[in-house]
Amino acid sequence: MEKLLHRLRVILDDKGLVTASSEAEPYLTESRGRYRSEASVIARPADTAQVAAIVHACSAEKVSLVPQGGNTGLCGGAVAGPRQLILSLERLDRVRDLDLANNTITVESGCILANLQQHALSASRYFPLSLGAEGSCQIGGNLATNAGGVNVLRYGNAREQVLGIEAVMPSGEVLSDLNGLRKNNTGYDLKQLLVGSEGTLGIITAAVLKLYPYPDHSATALVALRDLQASIELLQTASHASNGSLSSFELLPRLGMQFACQHIPDCNDPFDHPHDWYVLLALQGSGATLDLDAMLQTLLALALEKGAIVDGIVASSEAQTKRLWRLREGIVEAQRFEGASIKHDISVKVSLVPEFIQRAVDAVIDCLPGIRSCAFGHVGDGNIHFNLSQPPEMDAQEYLSLQGEINRIVLDIVDDLGGSFSAEHGIGMLKLEQMQRYKDPVSVNLMQSLKRAIDPERLFNPGKVLP
Ligand SMILES: Cc1cc2nc3c(=O)[nH]c(=O)nc-3n(C[C@H](O)[C@H](O)[C@H](O)COP(=O)(O)OP(=O)(O)OC[C@H]3O[C@@H](n4cnc5c(N)ncnc54)[C@H](O)[C@@H]3O)c2cc1C
Repeated sequence: MEKLLHRLRVILDDKGLVTASSEAEPYLTESRGRYRSEASVIARPADTAQVAAIVHACSAEKVSLVPQGGNTGLCGGAVAGPRQLILSLERLDRVRDLDLANNTITVESGCILANLQQHALSASRYFPLSLGAEGSCQIGGNLATNAGGVNVLRYGNAREQVLGIEAVMPSGEVLSDLNGLRKNNTGYDLKQLLVGSEGTLGIITAAVLKLYPYPDHSATALVALRDLQASIELLQTASHASNGSLSSFELLPRLGMQFACQHIPDCNDPFDHPHDWYVLLALQGSGATLDLDAMLQTLLALALEKGAIVDGIVASSEAQTKRLWRLREGIVEAQRFEGASIKHDISVKVSLVPEFIQRAVDAVIDCLPGIRSCAFGHVGDGNIHFNLSQPPEMDAQEYLSLQGEINRIVLDIVDDLGGSFSAEHGIGMLKLEQMQRYKDPVSVNLMQSLKRAIDPERLFNPGKVLP
């Protein structure tokens, strides 16, 4: 590391290196407190050329590196070992180009997602990727994990927003594909190989991203469902009756609503009576003739008539819309006040969501009576955060010692239904065992061959994604 440090001092300016332990702390701890990096050096390059020079230096000194964005990932992908370098992209945060005719923005990878949304808004455009960590996560991290979030239903996940990528490869060469073409069938789509590769194949330094018309109209409602199956009926009704404007469709369980109202400021149950399941749905669109309020009223009336929903609150102001979303976000925050939680980020076909939840809830209660299931999230694209809070009287450590057994029960059901054990958070090092157990071996072998071909020295993020 000493020799590497010497080389890095030549490449980087004063702000480019963090070695003091007090300053290093935010790069070493991760959001769930599950892992802690042991790296002693953090490099903070200011441009792509510096990133490439660092890669050459690491290769020469045989020190592997871990790219790090906002460090909000939930699978330990940006965690580094003692003889690894953390390469933070945070100083690469410039907007390189804004092309309104092409509806694209070219940004560097360290741009914080919320700032990117603001850049788009300043140009009266919309960048739709939106998730709870948007105030800290970076677009490079979003692309590296192929992040999802609350607007996937209408706009797709991070993968679908990208038209081009610039990345430093393990050879130190710069792959530059920033021409912003919407059509380009000239061989393998390398940018898409890098999306979702979690820093194991290339360090993303910039990207060309799609922009959309700013949705100046929106309409939001929180509805109480007849039962869980009704969520799918409502989704069908809403999809048909909303003319492509349905942007979010989020499932909230009673327990989640209760947790949020109990622990999170500004969270209040807007209904007179408790219900087992709720859906928060939003329509978005632009254009003077669009009447989304009327569209929402019509589709809710239809759902009521069909018996899918039994009650509903339509937001009548921006403030009320925020309050409804606060309930959805509050579920995530509130679980930590209820002791230890075992979490799963799974997906199944949308039509199978109710069957998955029912089977998984029954099976975990069979295993541990008193366990409390809080299944919530992006039901519109089949992605459920199946989180399980400990029985209230149980010791947290004792509960967490059952994690392996409970994971197996839940993920075997996902597998049986043809679903995915990791829908939007990625693999990192948290889900390596599951990768081995559930991912088909042909895919894993091909991924390993690609990794060997692109990164023969295992310089980039070794020990992540692939077992
Ligand atoms: C409160 C909260 C809510 C969240 N909600 C969602 C959600 O709704 N949907 C969702 O998908 N995720 C969600 N996440 C997870 C997380 O925010 C996303 O995975 C995010 O995309 C990670 O971005 P980051 O910049 O923080 O990346 P990091 O955590 O820094 O890194 C994640 C991975 O990407 C790699 N990486 C980072 N930057 C680069 C780069 N420039 N080039 C190459 N590799 C890189 C890292 O090595 C690591 O493997 C949430 C997290 C939190 C804390």
